[in-house]
Amino acid sequence: MPAPLPPAPAPALGEPTSHPPVGRFAPSPTGDLHVGSALAALAAWASARRQGGRFVWRVEDLDGPRAVPGSAERQIADARWLGLDWDEGPDVGGPDGPYRQSERSAIYEAALRRLADGGHLFPCRVSRADLRALASAPHGSDGLPPYPVSLRPDALPAAWLDDPAAVADAALRFRVEAGTVAFTDRVVGEVSEDVSTSVGDFVLKRRDGVYAYQLAVVVDDLAMGVTEVVRGMDLLDSTARQIRLIEALGGTPPTYAHLPLLVGADGEKLSKRDEGLTVRSLREAGVAPEALVGWLAAALGQGDARPRTPAAVAATFEIGRVRPAPVPVPADLAHRLHTP
Ligand code: GLU
Repeated sequence: MPAPLPPAPAPALGEPTSHPPVGRFAPSPTGDLHVGSALAALAAWASARRQGGRFVWRVEDLDGPRAVPGSAERQIADARWLGLDWDEGPDVGGPDGPYRQSERSAIYEAALRRLADGGHLFPCRVSRADLRALASAPHGSDGLPPYPVSLRPDALPAAWLDDPAAVADAALRFRVEAGTVAFTDRVVGEVSEDVSTSVGDFVLKRRDGVYAYQLAVVVDDLAMGVTEVVRGMDLLDSTARQIRLIEALGGTPPTYAHLPLLVGADGEKLSKRDEGLTVRSLREAGVAPEALVGWLAAALGQGDARPRTPAAVAATFEIGRVRPAPVPVPADLAHRLHTP
């Protein structure tokens, strides 16, 4: 199994790549393609295409219970209806497949082995309840305090990853180096975080054997040669963790651009009704793909909302025009976009 490393060196974090980039869209198949996901797909696609780059579609279906059968195929059909395409993906194949994470376990195992060999991994049997009980530290976004360094094992037997007794009923945690991770997000600007104090050692493989999103996304982006990540703002706070992991794997981080989230017309979180705002529902309401693409392009700061194809958006796309502030969705979006 070849090591999952990028094919070419990339420039400093936050700098545009000098060679044609590789972009990607990596939806979780938990339902139909939401308008917010379509925003990310369009931006990631237009950014890569604008620079003559390749584009990869990857299905992030590791969270089995949350996966909705058939939704990966429906998301792909809806993105194609919008006018997007890709050079590699589950429906078109490609050199770095398979393109469904549920079929990539051997690749994640190889990465875990490499991390274990480098001393970056340890088995952990501390439960979430135990961690929650350590209430002395402030709790993070997942309601848990940072993982205490004191809970790291002092020493591990040689080749512990192959020792059934060492790994039985254990999660595998990444040993986070102390120090600040700093990067320039192409939308948000300068970001810095000390993962060792904000999150601490984080889980890469759960006790039940499920690979963590943080591991899979990093390993796949490296293996697929992704040089630019363009995705929703909700993932900004995963980025420093991902950079630490990329460094431990000996890879070069891609550039990052985190896109504004969509909010309700009142500026608040999307309502239950808006959460049902999918590409499919707009399509079924008679909205033309160019009308939706035009609205998304305007939400991305790329001019007004006139109907356009994705190719027309890509022709003038500048990620520097994307503003990080949340974008309100008008309550009557379907009506506004409807062109009988
Ligand atoms: N699968 C993630 C999601 O659907 C996206 C992961 C990423 O873009 O890094 O939210």
